[in-house]
Amino acid sequence: MGFKVAIIGRPNVGKSTLFNRLIGRRVAIVHDRPGVTRDRREGQGGIADMAFTLIDTAGLEDATDDSIEGRMRGQTEQAIRDADVVLFLIDARAGVTPLDAFFADHLRKSPTPVILVANKCEGKAGAPGLYESYGLGLGDPVPFSAEHGEGLDDLYEALLPHARKHDGLEASPEDEDDWDWADADAGKGDDDIEDGDIHAEAEAAAAARPLQMAVVGRPNVGKSTIVNRLLGEDRMLTGPEAGLTRDAIASEWAYKGRTIRLVDTAGLRRRANVSDSVERLSTSNTIAAIRMAHVVVLVMDANAILDKQDLTIARLAIEEGRALVIVVNKWDVVEKRREALARLQDRLETSLPQVRGVPTVTMSALSGKGLDQLMDAVVDIYEIWNRRVPTSHLNRWLAEMTERHPPPATQGGRRIRLRYMTQVRTRPPTFAVFTQRADEMPDSYGRYLVNGLRETFGLPGVPIRFAMRKRR
Ligand code: GDP
Ligand code: GDP
Repeated sequence: MGFKVAIIGRPNVGKSTLFNRLIGRRVAIVHDRPGVTRDRREGQGGIADMAFTLIDTAGLEDATDDSIEGRMRGQTEQAIRDADVVLFLIDARAGVTPLDAFFADHLRKSPTPVILVANKCEGKAGAPGLYESYGLGLGDPVPFSAEHGEGLDDLYEALLPHARKHDGLEASPEDEDDWDWADADAGKGDDDIEDGDIHAEAEAAAAARPLQMAVVGRPNVGKSTIVNRLLGEDRMLTGPEAGLTRDAIASEWAYKGRTIRLVDTAGLRRRANVSDSVERLSTSNTIAAIRMAHVVVLVMDANAILDKQDLTIARLAIEEGRALVIVVNKWDVVEKRREALARLQDRLETSLPQVRGVPTVTMSALSGKGLDQLMDAVVDIYEIWNRRVPTSHLNRWLAEMTERHPPPATQGGRRIRLRYMTQVRTRPPTFAVFTQRADEMPDSYGRYLVNGLRETFGLPGVPIRFAMRKRR
């Protein structure tokens, strides 16, 4: 018997999109209209080396039936019974709705194990819904974007124990150490918070997948020249009459044992009209490249460091939660290098404080000097972006931080107590602190904690997401 996974959720949360994503072929129909009735679909799917039969229930929820029970049709019930594990989807952008809560209630009572998947989590818009979904009592949500294919690593990790169980293999014993804090501080009722330890297998699977890298920047800063250097071939034509760039080829290569995949940014370099002397920055192409990338390499010209457009791109990358590397190209023509570097550092500190410690590389694409430093920086920041801090370490650290500099008192004069903290996701590192009085906590205290996180756990140069979450 194969390992069976069912996708459950109210209409329009992205079930078909997820189904298509995991099947790898477009067999289910995706609709914008909620509640379009479809047949139950099954298909062979998988993530990395894990194979499963996928059951899609999209369309089985009958939105025309007003009774709540009517929304969960017999076929959905059957799918839950047939499955080894249920992926319960919510739309993180919409937040938790009463219908989600109803499904959750039902699933909590069902013997089939459930993995809560917070879909539509790309960008920032899903963060509140993601945190809210902890309240469903189905354990830690897996942040996901079916449309963008983000979160597959986390989903793999969440499915792994169930796949193992199905294969008759016992999951390896958990590291008990990470529960210490719960006993010491949080008390009862916390069994829905799970430890953030990553399974070695999932980590290995993640490492085997390519690092997606995008090279972005204003026209003429040297992007094509860098890409040519990286690929080691003159696949793209560059020159003073830039604009001759051919459509980019999907390109992969290995660097220090890691597969690097260049995100197609052909649109960035393609010019509608070669005689058009001023190529405009195509924002939509840049955004598309950034969204597809894990690491964004922002190339700038040493003669015009961090101008307005550069900053716009950098902020886009940070907002999208990507790891960023700044390249100062054409270093060969810079005369006053020390001054140029000081100016850059100064501008970085004032203009991009969100990513303190962002790696900067000076290079000459023309001579190839600095190319290895660039790739080292890309691989290093990628690892930081993927880093997971164990819950036990976080909570020891939180205790020290609050002792050194206690949270302020509320208007009523009571001290705000931070109960505990966990890393809710990686890529980028995302943390939640649980407290009774989340709304009364000043932003400055959040910044104090984020800066501390960076220093203590070695997270320089990547966006860190952070939320205070109310704990009932
Ligand atoms: P279903 O009714 O649950 O099967 O939902 P669909 O898969 O048909 O998706 C409903 C809508 O949500 C469609 O417009 C999808 O394009 C959109 N959608 C699905 N996944 C995502 C996602 O990860 N992010 C965003 N922003 N939209 C998504
Ligand atoms: P793109 O529009 O960002 O892809 O820029 P190109 O790669 O087409 O480069 C624009 C121009 O800058 C070309 O004339 C390149 O030869 C030149 N160029 C690129 N890198 C360097 C460099 O490191 N030093 C110098 N001096 N010129 C460079």
